[in-house]
Amino acid sequence: MEQISIIVPCYNEQEALPYFSKEIIRIADQLPAYEFQIVFVNDGSKDKTLELLKSYEKSDPRIHYISFSRNFGKEAAMYAGFRYATGDYVAVMDADMQDPPALLPDMLQIIKSGEYDSVATRRENRDGEPPIRSFFARKFYKIINKISDADVVDGARDFRLMNRKMVDAICSMGEYNRFSKGIFGWVGFRTYWLPYKNVERVAGETKWSFWKLFKYAMDGIINFSQVPLSIASWFGVIMTGISAIMFILLVAKKLFIGDPVDGWTSLICVIILIGGIQLFCLGIMGQYIAKTYMESKKRPHYIVAETDLEPHW
Ligand code: UDP
Ligand code: MG
Repeated sequence: MEQISIIVPCYNEQEALPYFSKEIIRIADQLPAYEFQIVFVNDGSKDKTLELLKSYEKSDPRIHYISFSRNFGKEAAMYAGFRYATGDYVAVMDADMQDPPALLPDMLQIIKSGEYDSVATRRENRDGEPPIRSFFARKFYKIINKISDADVVDGARDFRLMNRKMVDAICSMGEYNRFSKGIFGWVGFRTYWLPYKNVERVAGETKWSFWKLFKYAMDGIINFSQVPLSIASWFGVIMTGISAIMFILLVAKKLFIGDPVDGWTSLICVIILIGGIQLFCLGIMGQYIAKTYMESKKRPHYIVAETDLEPHW
C-alpha cells in the first residue's frame, strides 16, 4: 500500500487544531487505498498545542508529532517534516485550514496520473487580506521572478503534494537560510498549479506581521538572487558618468566665467548623496555576508525535544 505523509507545521494552534485534525482524519478515511502518516511539527508553541498533539497521537496510530525545543520558524518546521516523513507522497499544509485538506483527493489524482511530480496550489484571489499587504506581495513576486531563477508563482502557497523524487531533492538542499517557495521552484520537476479560492483562517491568529513578511520577502530575494550585489557596480558606473560631465562643465565655467568658490551647497549635497549610496551598497553586501556567516556555522536547522518518529533523511 502506498503511503502519504502529511506535514503540518504548528505554532500556537490550539484553537485551529481541533478543526484541522477532524478534517484531515475525515479525508484520510475517504482514501482507504492509502496508508496515512500525519506528522504534526510543534514549532515551540507556548500554548496547549503540544498537549493536544500528544493526545491525538495516542488516539490514532496514523498521527505523529515532532516537537522543537523552541520556535524555529515555519521553514525549519517544514524541513523537519520532510526529513522525518517516509511517505511515497508527501504534502505540506497549514494547521489553520487555509490550505483545505479537502483538495487532497484531487491533488492525488493529478499526481497519480504520472504526468506531474508535484501538485502545488495557488490562491486565485487575496480576499480578506489588507490591501497594502496584497500590493507589496504582488510587487515582491514581480521582482523575485525578474532577478532570480527561483521561479515563484504569485499567490503560490506552501501547500503542495510531492512524490518521493522531489522530496528527496528538497531534503538534499541543506542550506541554513531556507526559502521554501524558492526551493520548490529551484529543484525543478513537473508541477501542476491548482488554483483555489482564498479561505480565511478557521480560528486563532496569523503569525505574520507586516514587518515579518517584509523581512521574509527580502530573505527570499537575497537567497535566490545575486542581482542586488550588482547594484553597487551600477551606482558606481552612473556616478562616474555624472561626475565626468560635471568635471568638464565646472572646469569650463571656471575658465570662461570665473568665480571658483560658488557651489558650496551643491558640493555638500553631492557628498551626502554619494555617502548615502555607499552606505546603502555596503548594507546590501552586509546582508550577503551575514547569510554566508550563518551558513558557515553549520548550525542545525532545528532541535527536536521529543518525537515518536525516527528521522528518515
Ligand atoms: N507556523 C510555524 N512556525 C511559525 C509561524 C507559523 O510553524 O513560526 C505555522 C502556523 O502554525 C501555520 C502555518 O505555519 O500552520 C502558517 O502560519 P499562519 O497561518 O500564521 O500564516 P498565514 O497563513 O497568515 O500566512
Ligand atoms: Mg494561515
